[in-house]
Amino acid sequence: MAFVMFGSKGKSRRVPDGQVETRRCPECDKTTTFHECVVEKTYTAYHFIDLWRSKATEFACGACGSMVPLDKTLDPVLSARERAALEAAQAKAAAVAAKEAAVAAKAAERKRLEADREEVRRTQARDQAIEDELAAMKARLGKA
Ligand SMILES: [Zn+2]
Repeated sequence: MAFVMFGSKGKSRRVPDGQVETRRCPECDKTTTFHECVVEKTYTAYHFIDLWRSKATEFACGACGSMVPLDKTLDPVLSARERAALEAAQAKAAAVAAKEAAVAAKAAERKRLEADREEVRRTQARDQAIEDELAAMKARLGKA
């Protein structure tokens, strides 16, 4: 009876322009970038006789290098720093919006003041005209 030693050797390489996903690794529990890889497995006998090959696409964890099918990876988890960065970006956007609103309000206020000043100028001009008219009338009466 022959004793045959079976084994397998694997080879993986990153797919050029392959899929890149931010996922959580089930092995090391880190949220990281997963790169699409082709995993080629060769089943051997006695380490040197190739029996058959299999090819599969898996995703390599950027942190620990584990090869996992994409559907076995977990939803990404944001770190406290990433979440803080996201919140800071949102706060910044809100601050910018508030500043823009303040600037718009100030512009509206300036426009209103300008209109008031224009109204005062018009009133003063009309009053002056009446004043002049009265003065002229008085002068005419005085002369008469
Ligand atoms: Zn990992």
